Amino acid sequence: MGVCRLIRLVLLPALALLALAGCGNSGSSGSGTGAGAGGAEGGGRLYRVVATVGMAADLVRRVGGGRVEVQQLMGSGVDPHLYKPTRDDIRDLMSGDLIVSVGLLLEGRMEETISRLSERQRVLVLGSSIPPGMLLIDEEGSGGHPDPHVWMDASLWSRSVPAIVTALSEGQPEYAGEFAARGAALLAELSALHEFGVACLQSVPEERRVLVTSHDAFRYFGRAYGVEVLGVQGISTESEAGLLRVNELVDLLVSRGVSAVFSETSVSQKNMQALIEGAGSRGWQVVLGGELFSDAMGESGTSAGTYAGMLEHNLTTVTRALGGRVPEGGFAAWQKVQEAIRE
Ligand SMILES: [Zn+2]
Repeated sequence: MGVCRLIRLVLLPALALLALAGCGNSGSSGSGTGAGAGGAEGGGRLYRVVATVGMAADLVRRVGGGRVEVQQLMGSGVDPHLYKPTRDDIRDLMSGDLIVSVGLLLEGRMEETISRLSERQRVLVLGSSIPPGMLLIDEEGSGGHPDPHVWMDASLWSRSVPAIVTALSEGQPEYAGEFAARGAALLAELSALHEFGVACLQSVPEERRVLVTSHDAFRYFGRAYGVEVLGVQGISTESEAGLLRVNELVDLLVSRGVSAVFSETSVSQKNMQALIEGAGSRGWQVVLGGELFSDAMGESGTSAGTYAGMLEHNLTTVTRALGGRVPEGGFAAWQKVQEAIRE
C-alpha cells in the first residue's frame, strides 16, 4: 500500500514534466543526447529505448545498431532487486519510445512503475518472451515465483532476441530488415556462446562441478552448463542453523575435492570466508576462485561490460578455478572456428 501511494506521488510531477518534454519531441533536437549518430539522417531524433539493466540494454543495442539510442538506468555493481527508481529515472522512462525490462520481479521496486507506464507507453518485458515451462521456480522466499536470473543461460536469454526485433520493427518499420539481420547475427553469436560454455564446464572433472557462491543467481547457469549450484546467501556463523549449513558445505567441498568458492560483484563476500576457513581447518585448501558477475555487468568499455563478455567471464572463471580447461583464445577464437564450420 505504502509503495502504491509513493509511486503515485512521484508520478504526478513526472507527468507534468512529460507534458513539457512532449513539445520538444516533435520539434528539432529533443534532449540532444546522441544527436546526429547513425540513423537520424532525416534530421529527427533517434528512437529512444530506456532499459533497466545492462543485460537487457546490451541486446537492444546489438539489434538496434545505429538506429536507436539506448539508455541504461542501472550501471555496473547495482543490485536490481533493491534498486529504487529516482525521479530522474521516472522522467527518463517516460521519455522513452520503448521501455525494456527483464521482469519476473527482478526489478522489484521498479516493476509497479513500469507496469503503470505500460498503460500509455510501449513496454517490452524480456522475461515474458521465455516460455514459462523453461523457467525455474524459486521455492524459497518468494512464494513459488519464477527465478528472474534468466540471462545466466545464453540459450534461454537468446529467446528474448526475436521480441526485441519485433518491438524495434514496430517502432521503426523502415528499418525492420536491418533489425532482423542484426537479430539473426546475435542469435548465432549467443548460440555459439552457449556451446562454448558447455565445452568449458565439461572439461571440469564431474565430481568437482560444484559452484558455491553468495546468492542464488546461478541456478539457470547450473542447469545450462551442468554445474551443481549452492548459494550461501543468508547463512550466518552466528546461529546454530547457520553453522550447521557452513559445516555441510565444508563437508561437500572436502569430500568432492572442490577447491574454489566464488564471490559476486554485487554481493558481500563475507560468508565465503567461513567456508574457506572451515575447509582449511580440515586440511583442505579452498581458494576464492574469483569474482562473478551476477545481477549487473562490468564497467562499460570493458569486455565484461557486454552481455557476452559478462557470461564469458563467468564461464571461464568458474572453469579455470574448478580445474577445467578453457578452449584456447577464449570465446572470440571459438566463435571464429564455429563461423568457419558454418560456411
Ligand atoms: Zn539476483
